Amino acid sequence: RRDEVRQRHQEAADEVLPEQTGLYIDGEFVDAADGETFDTVDPTTGEVLASVARGKEADVDDAVEAAWTAFDEEWSDYSAGRRQRVLTAIADAIEDHVEELARLETLDNGKPISEAKIDIRGAAEHFRYFAGIVRENGGETMNAGSRYGQVIKEPYGVVGQVIPWNFPLMMASWKLAPALAAGNCTVLKPAEQTPLTALRLAELIDDIVPDGVVNIVPGYGEEAGAALTGHPDIRKVAFTGSTAVGKQVMKSAADTVTDVTLELGGKSPVVVFPDVHPKKAVALVKSAIFYNTGECCEAGSRLFVHEDIADDVLDGLVSAIDDMTIGDPLDEETDLGPKVSREQVDRTMEFLEKAQEEGGQFLAGGGQPEDEALSDGCFVEPTLIEGLDHDSEAVQEEIFGPVLDVFRWDDYDEMMALANDVEYGLAGGVITDDITKANTTARDIEAGYIWINSYHDLVAGLPFGGYKQSGIGRELSADTLDHYQQTKTINLSLR
Ligand code: NAD
Repeated sequence: RRDEVRQRHQEAADEVLPEQTGLYIDGEFVDAADGETFDTVDPTTGEVLASVARGKEADVDDAVEAAWTAFDEEWSDYSAGRRQRVLTAIADAIEDHVEELARLETLDNGKPISEAKIDIRGAAEHFRYFAGIVRENGGETMNAGSRYGQVIKEPYGVVGQVIPWNFPLMMASWKLAPALAAGNCTVLKPAEQTPLTALRLAELIDDIVPDGVVNIVPGYGEEAGAALTGHPDIRKVAFTGSTAVGKQVMKSAADTVTDVTLELGGKSPVVVFPDVHPKKAVALVKSAIFYNTGECCEAGSRLFVHEDIADDVLDGLVSAIDDMTIGDPLDEETDLGPKVSREQVDRTMEFLEKAQEEGGQFLAGGGQPEDEALSDGCFVEPTLIEGLDHDSEAVQEEIFGPVLDVFRWDDYDEMMALANDVEYGLAGGVITDDITKANTTARDIEAGYIWINSYHDLVAGLPFGGYKQSGIGRELSADTLDHYQQTKTINLSLR
């Protein structure tokens, strides 16, 4: 079976790997200036998928220059209507290649193919959403006595965008769509673990977007990433990734007083009230933590379940975990694939060891699956931990894996104090059929996005972003355009 998995991945790779793995600068795929490359690996088999050009400072300089030329010579003249047509054509191109892009994403990232398809459709939807609102972005006028005021929105020009590996194409779309809609040109750096769908997207949009408007520079964070976010000619930086790197990005942007938006980590609470049927709670809690192998910034990774139904919910979760299919992510039946890399497995396993030392008990999981067919892959078992102090590391820090910390509660105020006792504030979940409790709890959680009786479903138009150290700014909504534009006031005397 191990050989079957390898063969299947090899065949899929032969079919869907992009032809071009160079840097996409000024509408051309080129080698890095120093000719270096890095390998991207399939986390299911451990095999190298492709060697990709390794962008560094000199390449970022070229990309930024190409983007400014494209902005000055062409893109800044595009009307909103023309930009709308470009965004729609990109959405169409993605939708025409859902199966192919999903398989490529699964090979590069390890996410189950069923979830990869949701990502790719979501990416297309994102371009469609911004195509839809771009014409409404018209500014305001004001008559003020002897003055006539115009408030207009202008693009920054060239923006720098850095994204992580957990939703590679979807994160690229969250960045590219609003930047283009707002009238900017961009240089985007995909994560070094997962550069392939961004490069395939570049191939797909090559005939749609004028040369230099979108530039994709794969490479490492300390090299291409830092060169881009600290570039003096970048007028706005948009970063998604860890809080630690987000802080560095913000500091480097301070040197040039560059506008920054950050989508960072999370450690989101899910609060279960005793009125709900345990089955409903189990299904929602399971998806909140195990979707995308727990590699979601908004993952519901701390469960606060009311004492009265805690045993039923936890027993139900243990059975639900037993029923999960852990395996080859190219298989439609798979619920949980590998983590993105060996490094991420090691990081998760370190947290699990520490959790055990600190008195945590595994109600489920806690290790790596022993299935021989999965032995090449970066798999971690879905894990439930109970008995940890809320201030222990596994509770306070983002594990970014399929690991749920469980707490029982009976006093609402004490529970809510713990729920908010983390440095993050990205998201939260409330599970109850009591509409008043649902709403008051949603207000009490210090976070930017709260789901009531659902989780993870993000709707274009509803802003997404963090409180506290989970970030600055909002994506997915009309507010996002403001982050990619400057406001200019023109005050005209009528005297
Ligand atoms: P990371 O911060 O190490 O890397 C993210 C991106 O930043 C990568 O492209 C990386 O190459 C780049 N990078 C690394 N160092 C850099 C530097 N010094 N300067 C500029 N760029 C640099 O994070 P990761 O471990 O790859 O991704 C997982 C993290 O991302 C998690 O903490 C997760 O919560 C967060 N995340 C947040 C959101 C959100 O929307 N809030 C979404 C996805 C992931």
